[in-house]
Amino acid sequence: MSDESNCIFCKIVDGEIPSAKVYEDEDVYAFLDLSQVTKGHTLIIPKVHQKDIFNLNPDVAAKLFRRVPLVAAAIGKAFHPAGLNVLNNNGTLAGQSVFHYHIHLIPRYDEKDTFT
Ligand code: 5GP
Ligand code: ZN
Repeated sequence: MSDESNCIFCKIVDGEIPSAKVYEDEDVYAFLDLSQVTKGHTLIIPKVHQKDIFNLNPDVAAKLFRRVPLVAAAIGKAFHPAGLNVLNNNGTLAGQSVFHYHIHLIPRYDEKDTFT
């Protein structure tokens, strides 16, 4: 979905689509991914619509990225993972499926940790 007026993540920010909030402030929103790769899999997004890394305003990026350790700490406190992947897909070929910029935070655990 690339149309800003019909963006599911904008709708999540606006509260039109429900989500499980992990963290929120004036600039960013973090919430649990619908399909949990592992327990606590979280997405962090700017509240303003930005399509991908190629269209990400540097000031928006700065505000977003400086919150990543905060959200990682919240995940660490809630889920006690052994590790954490921070990743981002840009463009369909790279695996992006929602075209509102987002960073995945995927906790990793010692034991088998996938939900299937
Ligand atoms: P991408 O594939 O673009 O890197 O990641 C998009 C992520 O958004 C996917 O992991 C997908 O599970 C998640 N997602 C898609 N729609 C929704 C939704 O309505 N709510 C939540 N919480 N996550 C969603
Ligand atoms: Zn959006």
